[in-house]
Amino acid sequence: MAREGSGVRPEHCAHGLEYRMVSTDEVPALHPERGARAAPTRREERLGAGSLSIGCALLGLALWCLWGAGIARAAAPTESPDLEALTWTELKSALAHGKTTALVPIGGTEQNGPDIALGKHNARVKVLSDRIATRLGNAIVAPVMAYVPEGRIDPPEQHMRFPGTLTISDETFMHLLESTARSLKLHGFRDIVFIGDHGGYQADERAVAQKLNREWSASDVRVHALEEYYRVTQHEYVAELRRRGFGEAEIGTHAGLADASLTLALVPDLVRAGRLAGDMPSAALGEYGDPRRASAALGEVGVDLIVEHTVQAIREAVDRHGAGK
Ligand SMILES: [Zn+2]
Repeated sequence: MAREGSGVRPEHCAHGLEYRMVSTDEVPALHPERGARAAPTRREERLGAGSLSIGCALLGLALWCLWGAGIARAAAPTESPDLEALTWTELKSALAHGKTTALVPIGGTEQNGPDIALGKHNARVKVLSDRIATRLGNAIVAPVMAYVPEGRIDPPEQHMRFPGTLTISDETFMHLLESTARSLKLHGFRDIVFIGDHGGYQADERAVAQKLNREWSASDVRVHALEEYYRVTQHEYVAELRRRGFGEAEIGTHAGLADASLTLALVPDLVRAGRLAGDMPSAALGEYGDPRRASAALGEVGVDLIVEHTVQAIREAVDRHGAGK
């Protein structure tokens, strides 16, 4: 912010390329009769030399800053795996350096009972995709797909009976997947991986991957519908919770112990922890399971399983692709 009365004003240099700062109480006076500058006094000559050296110093500083900025542009790309956090030039550089696997996180906006917010799938798949990409080391994470098929609107079915659930048709969803994959292929990604956090659209992912892989069989690009990411939450994670003494009814299939624990471990702000021990859970409230004994610690068990299995499955899929299978 400029301060009034600082006694300094900017003055253009003759070449018009830079400013130099001259103290306003040291500006040479105009010749009183001819209206032109009087011959400089010795003090004014000293001041002129001083202004020149200050001008040169500022020019040097400006050049140094420009040079520094150039270095920063060239040598400090962000390490974020998020496509949305990169500039196009940073993404181009990442692709050129072998980051040719694209993860496409698929969430969904749906009711999850009175204790878990509607954005559960979107927030969870984002955090997990970032962790998986970081573990892989050669992957970029596309934006989350938050609009997915959730059932009929008229009359409303499944989660559509609860306020906040948003649905699109399977056809629209598959077009979204297809266009996203085509875009990523255009830009140089070689392995495009669908990662879906919700069970209902896994078959749609598979169908789109099969369609594009048939079409692209002569190219070196493949789409992988990575069902392992979701499958492990329904099998290995449930088995682990059972080993710890929890029953199937409590673990649940939607908004129960397993679901709430995963969400507590990944995005705790989306869980109304104070309410968890409240109402008796019921399907009428949108809960299929009992979240009351959920914890972040139990969720971490699931998170580790999901990341391990998914990283392994992606590596195997990419290797199979690389081997031409
Ligand atoms: Zn779901």
